Amino acid sequence: MRIRFDLGMLLILASPLGAQDRPVAITGGTVVDLDGGPHIENAVVVLRDGRIAAVGPATTTRVPDGAKIIDATGLWLTPGLMNMHVHLGLKLPGAAGAALVNETRAELALRMAANAIASLRAGVTTIRIPGDEGHVDLALKRAIDRGDLQGPRIYSSGQMVQVTGGHGSAVDEIANDGPYEFRKAVRREIRAGATWIKLAISGGIATQGGDIAASFMTRDELEAVTDVAHRHGVKVTAHSGSPEATREAVAAGIDGIEHGYFLTRAEFELMRDSGVWYVPTILVSQPATMPFFERIGSPEWYLDRVRAVGERHWDALRAAISVGVDIALGTDQFPHEENDGTIATVREAEYYVAAGMTDLQALRAATIEPARMLGADDELGSIGVGKLADLIGVAGDPSLDISALRDIRLVIKGGEVVR
Ligand SMILES: [Zn+2]
Repeated sequence: MRIRFDLGMLLILASPLGAQDRPVAITGGTVVDLDGGPHIENAVVVLRDGRIAAVGPATTTRVPDGAKIIDATGLWLTPGLMNMHVHLGLKLPGAAGAALVNETRAELALRMAANAIASLRAGVTTIRIPGDEGHVDLALKRAIDRGDLQGPRIYSSGQMVQVTGGHGSAVDEIANDGPYEFRKAVRREIRAGATWIKLAISGGIATQGGDIAASFMTRDELEAVTDVAHRHGVKVTAHSGSPEATREAVAAGIDGIEHGYFLTRAEFELMRDSGVWYVPTILVSQPATMPFFERIGSPEWYLDRVRAVGERHWDALRAAISVGVDIALGTDQFPHEENDGTIATVREAEYYVAAGMTDLQALRAATIEPARMLGADDELGSIGVGKLADLIGVAGDPSLDISALRDIRLVIKGGEVVR
């Protein structure tokens, strides 16, 4: 009897404290139309139970009785930003990375949790993690989903699946060789909770030695990965700088390519025609990132590799945009990492405009396009009725000038004001 009474009390107490019982109405802002149509000026956006319950002009959209009002006058409202290439536990060669050499799993988890909070506060409400250590990211995702911790929505590939001696592997690490070992590795990541599989099919900037343009995985290994992943409804993306490796991976049914340093029109046409996504991470090889590399004490060999790929990477991005391959924004830096007076996510989008996208296309690459890539566009990436209430308020129209994203004034995730 007593126990039942206590439980009842808890339930009664819990409901008025739940943030979403009282609807929220964002008033006075301009809702940006991502399809290039007219924006909704002086809009009312009603949030209820973490979702968008209504959106429309104030003349026809009622503010519910008792709603908590957020005055967004002077702000342009867009979906929360989405960054599709983020390692919350990133360690790069150099002084900052060396200082983390004795980092324990527990310390890593706390560092990643801090980065998750910083990402969200910066306006990035969804991230995809293409590989982090020890499944810490999956534990973090579950903690965020439970509401124990603040952070962006996380889609994760668990640990990168790799050949022995591949990009990012330790010197003495024996990884996967042959299709049987790759099948096992893919199943292991899916069992841990991965909803993507991340491969490295060529060398990379951050690996000393190792040819960025070489193709590491054999055809039977690639096909083993895509076969097993797709049986589970899991998509596969690959770190690739190599035209040859990219062609082979597309033939094996891959779903995405990251970086694409040395890719040309021919590979992007092939990717476009096969429905393969491109995540450029252009920041990692461009001038805006040099002060960051200096800040973390990158060694000379690393900077040489950055400079060596920079021009080709830029040409690749321009080719990708003109070919019209599907592009989703990713930085390979913390979403909130400072770059050129703004955050990495915004600087990356600015580079897309410099490389040939319209401002609206770049805004889409940071919102609805990632949602489409994740197969989550029914929930994320747009401000529409029934969608998850992830949105930001910006002091300018980012569909006309992407740099307006430098001034984010309001961040809401799941209907709760973060900033
Ligand atoms: Zn990466």
